Amino acid sequence: MGEKYQALVERLKEIRNVDRAAAVLHWDQQVNMPRGGARGRAAQLATLSRIAHELLISDETARLIADAETEVGSADYDSVEASMLRVAKRDFRKSTCVPSSLVAELAEAETLAHEVWAEARAQDNFGKFLPALQRILDLKRREAEFRGYSEHPYDAFLDDYEPGMTASRVKKLFDAHKGELVSLVAAIKERGDGVSDALLRQTYDIDKQRAFGEQMVRAYGYDFERGRQDVAVHPFCITFSQGDVRITTRYNSDYLNPALFGTMHESGHAMYEQGVDPALEGTPLSRGTSLGVHESQSRLWENFVGRSRPFWTWAYPQLQSTFPDQLGGVDVETFYRAINRVAPSFVRVEADEATYNLHIMVRFEIELDLVTGAVPLEKLPQLWNEKFESYLGIVPPSDKLGVLQDVHWSSGLIGYFPTYAIGNLLTAQFYRQALAAHPFIPDEIAQGKFDTLREWMRANIYQHGRKFTADELTQRLTGEPVECSYFITYLQEKYRDIYG
Ligand code: ZN
Repeated sequence: MGEKYQALVERLKEIRNVDRAAAVLHWDQQVNMPRGGARGRAAQLATLSRIAHELLISDETARLIADAETEVGSADYDSVEASMLRVAKRDFRKSTCVPSSLVAELAEAETLAHEVWAEARAQDNFGKFLPALQRILDLKRREAEFRGYSEHPYDAFLDDYEPGMTASRVKKLFDAHKGELVSLVAAIKERGDGVSDALLRQTYDIDKQRAFGEQMVRAYGYDFERGRQDVAVHPFCITFSQGDVRITTRYNSDYLNPALFGTMHESGHAMYEQGVDPALEGTPLSRGTSLGVHESQSRLWENFVGRSRPFWTWAYPQLQSTFPDQLGGVDVETFYRAINRVAPSFVRVEADEATYNLHIMVRFEIELDLVTGAVPLEKLPQLWNEKFESYLGIVPPSDKLGVLQDVHWSSGLIGYFPTYAIGNLLTAQFYRQALAAHPFIPDEIAQGKFDTLREWMRANIYQHGRKFTADELTQRLTGEPVECSYFITYLQEKYRDIYG
């Protein structure tokens, strides 16, 4: 490709460098920074974010895009060049359609709202959060008008995380499996509490937890030569370059699950980022294509592999020898059932596979009303609890365990929640395709071999980075758009086996 295209790529790489430098500061803030550093760090991050934004929306970038288009014009749709131009144009359009004054107003409102939310949550006082939430929503509605949408203002926000997805498609997907989930969870409840997870809630030495978790994800194929794991309050995965994709986790000395399955989860995100084609490194294409596809990979390694019977056939003897006092007398079947226990709970991040998407549906339906203003904000806790009861059969005893539990709305992240559920649906779809191509994958997993599965994901998903949208990728891989029936079948088979 010619000089004009190269000049555009150089520009885009420069912008990405600023973003990735900001990522290092962000990681440090979550992992190492003393509390006193907060104010200074916020100022540094704001400066870097302004520099990256100015570089992107500048006339110079617009000119480089227009010039490159004359060279790339007729390149094949699948080529790196055509994909680069598509993504650059999309990013440019998104960044320029909202006036900087509104962007700044939102950033300020979000910083304030986040503080108020944390306080309101600690005090279990929704009323305190209400004015800050109202302000965020007013600003977000204005943002939606600038961004533009075809059907519902919510579409403008969804598009940030799941390009091309719309509220009506999400609603259809959710409506198509809500009833099945509700009856599955109710049927399990009827069986009584035949599965206990008490054995997971013993004392587990933290150093040994760390060593075991790292051993598992190293076996998956998370490359520690190009990554590392640290401790953070809210676990995440973050990319500085393809040579440095880090994960974090949190340890609980009297509960085995959070660190073990959290590490597997984040390693799925990280292997996606580590697996992007090296030729795309440093460009806007060198990361996962959408939050839903990203989540499909974390859920694959956390649940479809990490909570499967074949996996523990291989891993359990190792876990037993790591924790002989706690698990020496527990057989693998009892352990397998314990890690797959289904029980409706109030908190999304602790939800099991069967109830998880119901937590998301509650939030999605409420968000639609928030965006249009269809419901008065003071009715929110009541609305939350009513929906919660009708889907999960339990009512949160407090707003802290209900409408105030998640950080997203205070951070202006409207439209983010559905991507978690879409991720679960996509995992089932992608895994089904991998199994069709290589039916012996479960046998390999039972021997601690993960490369056939990982390489299938790398070749079909990871390597493309952002070249294709989630819709394009899903259509190409499965011959259909995102779909819920495979996920439901997976859950029904799994829990029929466990609960009878
Ligand atoms: Zn995740």
